[in-house]
Amino acid sequence: MSDDNESGTRYCETKFEFQIMTEEAFDVMVVGSCMTDLVSQAPRLPKAGETIHGHKFFIGFGGKGANQCIQAARLGAKTAMVCKVGKDFFGDNYIQNFKDNGVYTDFVGQTSDSATGAASIIVNSAGENAIVIVAGANMLLGSEELQKALSAISHTKVLVCQLEISPQTSLNALRMAQDYKVKTVFNPAPAIPDMDPDFYRVSDVFCCNESEAELLTGFSVTNVEEARRAGQELLKRGCGSVIVTLGPQGCVVLKAQESPPKHVPATAVTAVDTTGAGDSFIGALAFYMAHYPTMPLEEMARRANQVAAVSVQAVGTQTSYPFKNDLPVELF
Ligand code: ADP
Repeated sequence: MSDDNESGTRYCETKFEFQIMTEEAFDVMVVGSCMTDLVSQAPRLPKAGETIHGHKFFIGFGGKGANQCIQAARLGAKTAMVCKVGKDFFGDNYIQNFKDNGVYTDFVGQTSDSATGAASIIVNSAGENAIVIVAGANMLLGSEELQKALSAISHTKVLVCQLEISPQTSLNALRMAQDYKVKTVFNPAPAIPDMDPDFYRVSDVFCCNESEAELLTGFSVTNVEEARRAGQELLKRGCGSVIVTLGPQGCVVLKAQESPPKHVPATAVTAVDTTGAGDSFIGALAFYMAHYPTMPLEEMARRANQVAAVSVQAVGTQTSYPFKNDLPVELF
């Protein structure tokens, strides 16, 4: 009736048993996106109607939701992903990627109505790029999948959402978690100007980067002082806490019951590729929230900075995310 998955967690096949077994089963659940990155490197970007030869092609695993889930899993969190992929090669491949990383995949839906989300990326020799994202199956993730995952969501320690799926699905998932007193992390990315104000009220931790903070507040956010000001504005809208990440400057942490905001500096490293750094930070934050619920948020942010700093020192998105064994023991 049961089997062991890669991370050694026992899962049961029948619905009834599953509900029993999922009590406290997951540390981190992510309701969000999966994207396959199709990357071509070429000397320059083609003009309209033109065909040019590139010199390198590779396929990468991306999508903010999946990235965050995989970073949390690599640190040792028991994770589950709630997402939708196509009934196609890329969908099958993505499910295998989750399994390879120890992520529970029973809540990954597959549909014939749309293709797996994909980002076609062309990078020129100057490092500039042109990108077409087709969200595809991600936009079909909805109430059916949330209902299937409800029992697990009600028992998870932390739920994480972003905005690369239908915003209504993200909001519903966060509300569900809040109903069960599950800690929520909301990453408003990509930011949308007319975001439902309820997103603030359902976020225990509202974590955004500089450009998202700018778009949501209308303030300029380029340094620590400006991030503090934007963070205070976001906090006023009803979030439990706010974190504004600032790339090599680390992040600013603001808590509703505490002032003043705290700047948590980043680890000084030589960055080679910062793609997906924010997702590494959020995945790590979710891991710390699940494993060390009484740790001060500022300390979690300090450790998440260190995890994300490792990710910027290697090329790629998920390929650059560290595993627990790659990191100093003091982080655990
Ligand atoms: P995003 O990827 O969403 O734009 P940021 O650029 O703010 O997010 O990066 C998220 C986190 O990654 C930062 O808070 C920091 O901890 C880490 N980070 C990003 N860039 C660097 C860097 N150049 N050096 C050290 N840490 C970095």
